[in-house]
Amino acid sequence: MTTYLACPVKYRYTYLDPRARWLLKAKSYYSFGSTLHHVLQRFHDAGDAGVETTDEVLAAYEESWIDAGYHSAEEMAEAFGEGREILQRYVAQVQAKPAEAKTLFVERQFRHDFGDFVLIGRIDRVDEYEDGVLEVVDYKSGRESVSEDEVATDIAMCCYQLLLRTKFPDRKVRARIVALRSSDSAVHSLSDGEMVEFERDIAILAREILSENFDERRPVRKPMCERCDFQIACQQDPDF
Ligand code: SF4
Repeated sequence: MTTYLACPVKYRYTYLDPRARWLLKAKSYYSFGSTLHHVLQRFHDAGDAGVETTDEVLAAYEESWIDAGYHSAEEMAEAFGEGREILQRYVAQVQAKPAEAKTLFVERQFRHDFGDFVLIGRIDRVDEYEDGVLEVVDYKSGRESVSEDEVATDIAMCCYQLLLRTKFPDRKVRARIVALRSSDSAVHSLSDGEMVEFERDIAILAREILSENFDERRPVRKPMCERCDFQIACQQDPDF
């Protein structure tokens, strides 16, 4: 089984204990990411007329701005300026290239029922290319760069490919991460064999989560804790 970077305690907070979700609220980077996602959703949604030019995109950005989680007006003004630059560059790049694909879905949820659990993923965008390939596009608002290897080992990107393949079994699928801060992007496609292996791995992982007694799990400090949103909860444990 491929080893994915994960923390079992995080699974409890993320999947099993909705009361812990409050910890995720009101963070400036979530507000910033949600704002950019919403504007790009409108930009790529053929049904949402009026968000096509740079000026229209920037107007949508002002309308969509979420101000929760910033520590000061200065911090928010700086983030707002960065967001404007990101969107201006993004729109200029899209408009400079001839369209190679048409957008099929924006912000669409896909599900796959495994019987004892359901895999659910909300995909930022799905593009269809002329050769029939379906491409999942995932925006990362905090990233400057991305590599093919990072797409290949990103559990969410593999889940999205699996979800899309189960809905469109006769199509080739691939996944692209777009690092919005630089417009860098990278693509990876799971082969048929890797898709089968991933589906088996995800079922093993999900069933491990379902069978685990999380009340007995104690948090153990590790390098990834430094970047974890749930640290406040784990710090309640005297041995953490
Ligand atoms: S703080 Fe560390 S132990 Fe706690 S959930 Fe996050 S990664 Fe896991």
